[in-house]
Amino acid sequence: MGIDLGTASVVIYMQGKGIVLNEPSAVAYNSEGRIVGVGKKAYDMYGRNPSGIRVIKPLVNGVVADFTATKHMLEYFFSKVCKNMVLRPNVIMCVPSAVTDLEKRTLLSLASAAGAARAWLIEEPLAAALGVGLESSRPKGIMVVDIGGGTTDIAIITMGSIAISKSLQVAGNAFDEAIMRQLRRERDIIIGEKTAEQIKIKIGSATLRDVELGMTAKGKNYITNMPEAFEISSTEVFLALRPCLEMIIGGIRETLEQSTPELAADVLDYGIVLTGGGSMLRNIDKMIERKTGIKTKLASSPLNCVALGAGRAIEHVDLLSDSGYIIRVNDKPKAGKKESKRD
Ligand code: ADP
Ligand code: MG
Repeated sequence: MGIDLGTASVVIYMQGKGIVLNEPSAVAYNSEGRIVGVGKKAYDMYGRNPSGIRVIKPLVNGVVADFTATKHMLEYFFSKVCKNMVLRPNVIMCVPSAVTDLEKRTLLSLASAAGAARAWLIEEPLAAALGVGLESSRPKGIMVVDIGGGTTDIAIITMGSIAISKSLQVAGNAFDEAIMRQLRRERDIIIGEKTAEQIKIKIGSATLRDVELGMTAKGKNYITNMPEAFEISSTEVFLALRPCLEMIIGGIRETLEQSTPELAADVLDYGIVLTGGGSMLRNIDKMIERKTGIKTKLASSPLNCVALGAGRAIEHVDLLSDSGYIIRVNDKPKAGKKESKRD
């Protein structure tokens, strides 16, 4: 199985079956600490807080913030997708390129604890590159920009490894927060995270639209503290999102500045590929292309391509561990063999 353990969602690819799961990263507990929902069910409770129920998002900015909740979530998802399987699955999990060794070990032990037979890690930008079908083992440089929930990860990949990478804490969640801030400041309206996300998905745009879109949403009036329905336009959303978008452009520019002239020239040839849910914001590809002068295209399934790439990597585990794709192997000593003293 290839697993994309994201801040916003978990996607699982299974060899021979394709994408078998795509659910929000969330676990709900009741007041006694018992699990009452995982994934979509937990996410539906988020922001509504039925009495005594606590909804936890176990990952923050791409790293594990709550070990136990992550384990519970993985156990549940594993059992869901492996219902009729006799053997425990081999798992390859994606990690942001910026995680520390300790975080890598945490993730590997989590995968084992949740029921994996063997577990490997792969850096997310590499998985994304494999997932969009890029032949990233060739010497050319390509840029992958993954705009997820918590982070935007920018990487230039060459010869099967990451030449340079950068992680910004500006992505989908920051877009939602920007919309919430804008409404509160300009119109005295308070909305929840989910409403902000719906507004972003429905009428959000990375460029100013010739034909405005509009929608009705609901929130609370900050002054009267009463529920209120209001109209919001795509121009308003665009203005709220603009500072975040500029930060992403800044990150792309900095990454190019820090790369060698040859690599930068390759990126100019091969362009930028966008992945992650945040890249589904209208016209974000056009906006990046216009601001950087580099041709930019959206991956064909932005939400699934990291898990897909991880799945492809597992089909070539032996080959890939040689070419530096997989960053750590969690090989347990085989039963019957004595452990060496150093282990
Ligand atoms: P992660 O890898 O961090 O789990 P994802 O790649 O699943 O994140 O992306 C999640 C983000 O994508 C969320 O912030 C979500 O609001 C956003 N998103 C999903 N669909 C769209 C869309 N159509 N337009 C804009 N943003 C979207
Ligand atoms: Mg992701």
